[in-house]
Amino acid sequence: MLTKTDFIQYLSCPKSLWLKQRKPEVYPEGEFSEYAKKLAAEGYLVENYVRQLVQGWPDAEACSFQDVFETGEGLHARADMLRANEDGTVDIFEIKSSTSVKDSNPHNQLKDAAFQTIVAVKTGRKVRNIFIVHLNKDYVRNGEIDPAGLLTFADETTRVKGLLAETEQQITDALALLNEAAIDESSCRCLTLSRSHHCDSFGYFNPGIPKYSIYSLPRLSGRKLENFVSEGRFGLDQIELNEVTRLQRPIIQAHNVKNPFVDVADIENFISVLEYPLYFLDYETYASAIPIVDGTGPQEQLPFQFSLHVLHEHGGIDHFEYLADQPESPRQLVETLQGAIGATGSVVTWNKAFENTRNKEMANAFPNQRDFLLGLVDRTVDLMDVFKTGYVDIRFNGSTSIKKVLPVVVPDLSYEGMEIADGTAAMDGWNKMINEEDSEKRAQLRTALLAYCELDTLAMVRIFQFAQTLVRDR
Ligand code: SF4
Repeated sequence: MLTKTDFIQYLSCPKSLWLKQRKPEVYPEGEFSEYAKKLAAEGYLVENYVRQLVQGWPDAEACSFQDVFETGEGLHARADMLRANEDGTVDIFEIKSSTSVKDSNPHNQLKDAAFQTIVAVKTGRKVRNIFIVHLNKDYVRNGEIDPAGLLTFADETTRVKGLLAETEQQITDALALLNEAAIDESSCRCLTLSRSHHCDSFGYFNPGIPKYSIYSLPRLSGRKLENFVSEGRFGLDQIELNEVTRLQRPIIQAHNVKNPFVDVADIENFISVLEYPLYFLDYETYASAIPIVDGTGPQEQLPFQFSLHVLHEHGGIDHFEYLADQPESPRQLVETLQGAIGATGSVVTWNKAFENTRNKEMANAFPNQRDFLLGLVDRTVDLMDVFKTGYVDIRFNGSTSIKKVLPVVVPDLSYEGMEIADGTAAMDGWNKMINEEDSEKRAQLRTALLAYCELDTLAMVRIFQFAQTLVRDR
């Protein structure tokens, strides 16, 4: 059977779909399934508002949801919404949680609609118009959700019909591939693409690639990657230092000498510009397809929590935190933060673009706190930078994520075993907490959320202190 989700996976990578269907026992259920599940869950949320809106249409009776089409050759499609027209034709509505029509890879929504149309036609429907229903990016919630303002109906009939011949051929190819009992499993096309393109099946299809390899080098150009691959040079010990950039060099050095690469001057440069007290700040945010509080729009990031560790020059540490108990604008969060952060002192974050973007968004939303929030932006530094060129351990494997750095440089502090242990789980946990009626479960989620965010900023403090000792003990 080939479903629409399968077909989208096929377009993204034929081999990964083959593996999933023909050898499910070795297929790593990873990010593609998670991504598909997230899209489906958001799609259902949006569909509820489409249903509300359609009830007011004069031809509401002619509209149906989740109709299934199946063909003898194994194609399976479920139309989000179908409208039966008086002339015997149908209109197809694909419902999406995006804020525009996505018409390019990796997830081309026009191809979804083309797949649905082909399967509908093969099962005897005559398709007249094809719509992509998506969220209106300019919609701002004010009270109850207004489905008419929230939704945009984009008539994509011409563009989708223009893709039918090509899509039909791809469906034929996908079915043929799935009928193959064996394929070349000795490598896959991501060999010449950077790690961000690899799916969880990369290791299965390329078992000979060492753990620390050319894919551990950040921002390796496509041309260099292709050269290394064509010459069969995958190991870091096969790459000369003069073949790579300043950012990539420390990773090779750390690998080859089997010790961390340390540039004390680089770390000192970072530390010397800091002004005490140091404010280690981290936000948790919730991005929801349907805005959950007034004044926000679809897919906007809503800060619901912060943790702040304050490190004083004499070594004392204070901790402040905030966690919204219900969906609310982040006004109170900002006011609490303002009460905890003094007029001077550097703000230390990990990946400062994220916190700074939130601060700028909140500065626009709250004019009274604008100066404070924009002041934070000016005072913010990025501790992650130290681990790009100042201190590089091969066990980071080319990553500068705090989840990679912490266990290496501060092994006694860990996210392991925490009920909530990453940002996605925090988002999910908060959503559960604000909807939980059982007070005990609610309190448990609250404790887990507070523990996770506190660890994020405590981890920064300890990593910073580790960097300080490198300078002090040189
Ligand atoms: S890593 Fe291989 S299997 Fe995975 S998407 Fe890339 S080509 Fe496909």
